[in-house]
Amino acid sequence: MPDSLDKELDASIRPSVPATSAAVQPHGCLIAYDSDWQGVCLASANLSRFFGLSPAEALGRSPEEVLGTDVATALAKALAMGLPGMTIPSGQAHVGSRYLYVSTYMARRHVILEVEPQEGKSHELPGLGYAWGTRITRASSVNELYDQLLRALHALTGFESCILHSHEYGGRSMRLGREGTRLEPLPSDIGRCTNAPLMLIDSQAEPVELLAAPGPLPDLSHCPLCLPPPLLRTWLTGRQARAALILDLGETTPDRSLAICRDRQPRHLAPPLRHQLLQLIQTAALRRELLHQKRETQHRYRLLHERNTRLQWLAYTDPLTQVANRHRIEKVLEAELATASRNGRSLALLLFDVDHFKPINDSHGHEVGDSVLRRVAQEVQSQLRDSDHLGRWGGEEFVAVIPGCDLPQAQELAWRLCHTLAQCRIDPVGGVTASFGVAVHRSGDTSRKLVQRADRAMYRAKRAGRACVRTQEIDE
Ligand code: GH3
Ligand code: MG
Ligand code: MG
Repeated sequence: MPDSLDKELDASIRPSVPATSAAVQPHGCLIAYDSDWQGVCLASANLSRFFGLSPAEALGRSPEEVLGTDVATALAKALAMGLPGMTIPSGQAHVGSRYLYVSTYMARRHVILEVEPQEGKSHELPGLGYAWGTRITRASSVNELYDQLLRALHALTGFESCILHSHEYGGRSMRLGREGTRLEPLPSDIGRCTNAPLMLIDSQAEPVELLAAPGPLPDLSHCPLCLPPPLLRTWLTGRQARAALILDLGETTPDRSLAICRDRQPRHLAPPLRHQLLQLIQTAALRRELLHQKRETQHRYRLLHERNTRLQWLAYTDPLTQVANRHRIEKVLEAELATASRNGRSLALLLFDVDHFKPINDSHGHEVGDSVLRRVAQEVQSQLRDSDHLGRWGGEEFVAVIPGCDLPQAQELAWRLCHTLAQCRIDPVGGVTASFGVAVHRSGDTSRKLVQRADRAMYRAKRAGRACVRTQEIDE
């Protein structure tokens, strides 16, 4: 076998050590260079199948010597431009495929090349990826987004089952398989042990070890060609999966979201398709972030609106009686007066004061006095229309602003309120009465003049014996 021959050569020609406990999957080969792109520092034992020379021969050699000048130059360019990789002719390789795909990336101080056979070229891929990407970017909710993403993964990979493990579902997963979409749990240790993107071509294939020159070892924790960790392999085997593709939706730990596609048959996904899927999942992650921010903004806006409404209510409301406070009722009076003047409509003002209120406080206490004031406000409010305004003017004195009401109507209303109060029983006080002063809007009026006329009328009611109504004088 060429691989075992390679190993023997390694041992005899040049000292090399197994790189890590990591191993690569046999369909591809891995080469690591130092960051200066000078010499090979690690290679998988099956290198000769792809490039005709053993790892022992390759260690320390330049890219040109291992890959050929043209390929090495093209890869250096791809790397400099940040491209994910490129297709090269397989040349002398014994991999039964006309093309190889070389994925290139930097892993800290090393350059990693992952070489895989590529079956033909998939021209329809960008179009398909674009179509799914568009649907994902248009998703209007996280659920719709995940549904589209799972459908895309299902369609593009052709794998039997695609699962989305997300904390959005309280640690459960959304699964799209032959049975359609449903939820299923994913053990949290599986989520934690996985460094996605991860690809398992065939769980039953014999792994290929890695050989390294002495020196610092490259970090292979994000290398899809490497074998997935044993815990994950055991979990996949338990679910009859031979092949798997695991992608990360970019959530921070411990709340990672993973897309797991699996199949009972060995499956190889061409690297360009994998890049396409990675792009798709990155698009989905961005869209989800946007949707989260939108939801957060809406939530904050709602909270702000609620607090503003509450603040406004507090600023405008008398805390004891819950009717408008003096500040509010003065503003309302100004506004109604302006409307009445502009439209030539009538406007009435009722000012009333609870009679002999001090003795109530004195004999029953301040709290009972408070409850009397609350009850007075309730009784009067219940007799008014929605378009009328009741406010507490101060102490045991209230004001009612009644738009569209002339003097006879206002007088009648005041008497009705006066009788209502006189008839109601308030424990432990018994009955209460109030004295009412009524004034109506005259042309050229100001709110101060209107209130003054109502106030004088109210004092006339007091002098007349209380529990009665008096109106403004004609010559006032
Ligand atoms: P009159 O019939 O002439 O209006 O007599 P009165 O006793 O109602 O009027 P007076 O002005 O002598 O007393 C009003 C009392 O109302 C005095 C004050 O302590 C009391 N008062 C004012 N605001 C409140 C309040 O918010 N709660 C309570 N319990 N009492 C209040
Ligand atoms: Mg009073
Ligand atoms: Mg008073």
